Amino acid sequence: MIEFITGCMFCGKTEELIRRMRRESISGKKVVLFKPKIDNRYSEEYVTTHDGVSFRCITAENSDDLYGYDADVIGIDEVQFLDDGVVRFCRKFRNKLIIVSGLNTDFMGKPFKFKDSERHVGELMAMSKVYYLSAICTYRENGEICGREANFTQRLANGKPVYHDDKLVVIGGKEQYEARCEKHFVIEEN
Ligand SMILES: [Zn+2]
Repeated sequence: MIEFITGCMFCGKTEELIRRMRRESISGKKVVLFKPKIDNRYSEEYVTTHDGVSFRCITAENSDDLYGYDADVIGIDEVQFLDDGVVRFCRKFRNKLIIVSGLNTDFMGKPFKFKDSERHVGELMAMSKVYYLSAICTYRENGEICGREANFTQRLANGKPVYHDDKLVVIGGKEQYEARCEKHFVIEEN
């Protein structure tokens, strides 16, 4: 069984993944948690949320690094940053419990593509039980936060929305990205 925890940035995906891994571990299952190497925001050996909650993990440079571990439950954080080989990995081991967390869309509102690939996370979601989480829109108007349900991630540069960029992956915290509601998520019309 593959479970996919998704939603925009700041919706608590990693927190939920850690909660699930903790629970499986308490029940005596052998759990292993991976995170892609690209994400070394806080620590190399732990998956850590924006709020500082953490769980021990193994850093994977690519999907080949996921193989060879003896586990009943496999967790993968930020799955969208891995190469598309992760789809094959998940299909191969779906007799175990695989829990992944990741973004569904990029800052342009398009399905998030795996590393160096035209294939995207929707392919993995199609074979998973999907859990959608939402954040709170932090768009500010006259000093007030919007507060509506947010399902989109806006990339910002100097406080202004960035619509497209050659570099899809820019790792950052709250200074570069904001969770936005439908009304305040701005994309370039095409
Ligand atoms: Zn809003």
